[in-house]
Amino acid sequence: MLTDMSMRICPFCREKIHRQAVVCRYCKRDQPTVGRRRKNSSGWLAAITATAVIVSATAFLVTEFIRERNIWSK
Ligand SMILES: [Zn+2]
Repeated sequence: MLTDMSMRICPFCREKIHRQAVVCRYCKRDQPTVGRRRKNSSGWLAAITATAVIVSATAFLVTEFIRERNIWSK
């Protein structure tokens, strides 16, 4: 039997169900969405990291700019 990439096996009843299925159509049990959740959390982490980098870079530039201005004004 060929493995269909759009299908997966239900961990509760071992029937073939759609990969994106939230509820098994055979046993009606909620399907674990570990893969999708992990993808979302890594996306969140990347977004937070990017924001932190941008904020720290901006803070650094502003600090440098203020320091330069203080030197010039003297
Ligand atoms: Zn099932």
